[in-house]
Amino acid sequence: MTRPCRDIPAEATAPGPPTLQELLQREAQWLAPYAMPARKSRGRRYAEPEHPYRTPYQRDRDRITHSAAYRRLSYKTQVFTGEMGQLHRTRLTHTLEVASIARTLGRALRLNEDLIEALALVHDLGHPPFGHAGEQALQQCLGEQGSFSHNQHALTLVEHLEHRYAEFPGLNLTWEVLQGQQAKVQPEQLARGALLEVQVVDAADNIAYDTHDADDALTLGLLGLEDLTQLDLWHHAQAAVRRRWTIPDKRLFQRAVVRQLIDTLVGDLLRTTWQNLRRHEVRSLEDVARLKRLVCHSDEVAQQQQALERFLFQRVYRHPLLLRMRSRACEMIRHCYEQLLARVEELGEVFCRRAQQHGPAQAVAEYLACLTDEELLQLAQNPRSNPLPPR
Ligand code: MG
Repeated sequence: MTRPCRDIPAEATAPGPPTLQELLQREAQWLAPYAMPARKSRGRRYAEPEHPYRTPYQRDRDRITHSAAYRRLSYKTQVFTGEMGQLHRTRLTHTLEVASIARTLGRALRLNEDLIEALALVHDLGHPPFGHAGEQALQQCLGEQGSFSHNQHALTLVEHLEHRYAEFPGLNLTWEVLQGQQAKVQPEQLARGALLEVQVVDAADNIAYDTHDADDALTLGLLGLEDLTQLDLWHHAQAAVRRRWTIPDKRLFQRAVVRQLIDTLVGDLLRTTWQNLRRHEVRSLEDVARLKRLVCHSDEVAQQQQALERFLFQRVYRHPLLLRMRSRACEMIRHCYEQLLARVEELGEVFCRRAQQHGPAQAVAEYLACLTDEELLQLAQNPRSNPLPPR
């Protein structure tokens, strides 16, 4: 007979997984009245039995994490390409940083962290190879024959292109996750009435890329620390670090300032959001639905953040190195697009079906958007190849 360990009282042995009911009760006790509880979900397009010990949003998060599109993010450019080294962010690490910041915000505001995590993990799933350069090239290729946006493509992936279940196409995510991503396609939905979980992920995305694009640009030597001190946000973060520590090492100092910057932005966002929630006496999801955006920065910090974004646009995103990369990527995508248009029928069942439904141009753009940076390079070198594994 197995005897329990002498030092652990019998009542402390593993209690077994919580039931779904217990998880939903825990949510009800913990979440703020304006948070989105899983028990109120509008459900999925294709009805499914509930999981015995995961809430619908936990399942959504897991489905996204196990998708092919998610894994491919590790080989997709965020801002800086692989040829510039391996230390800067990729689309995957950016996504994880967004999820991390968004969860912190969500917990502090007592929102639904599982929903937040699912929304964060899906938010950039639709980025084509070579980031915004790839997106621009696909838009140009399609011209009048269709449209491409990475936000919309994320929805296409999780609703149609992911092929993992016998019972339905896509991942069959909950209405709230799809609607949250849809709000990114139509930003007016983000400006009014979006769930606070959706607003939090959008704010976390901005905080993540503003701070880590500056961090990566410094690390790669595209900027010097002295370039950023002209910006109020950076200047204040630097002063706060110096008040607490003396850090002679330049790299460590840079990291301390970036940490401080994230802390400043997160702290300001939380303070302003709490003020908004109190000022508007927000007590329910219905209150959230009728009000303008509540998760935002103070006017002062919002202006400073915009100044940082303008600076990054001029000095980093339009840096000659990045412009050269963009133009090479655009050229490759245009070349591959022309080649594939002549042989859509070779792209596999899913894309053939997309071609029948939405035209060959749209199907080719979607195929190219699924590729990693490396796969696009391979395809450009060998136009007869088919680098995307069968779906
Ligand atoms: Mg993003």
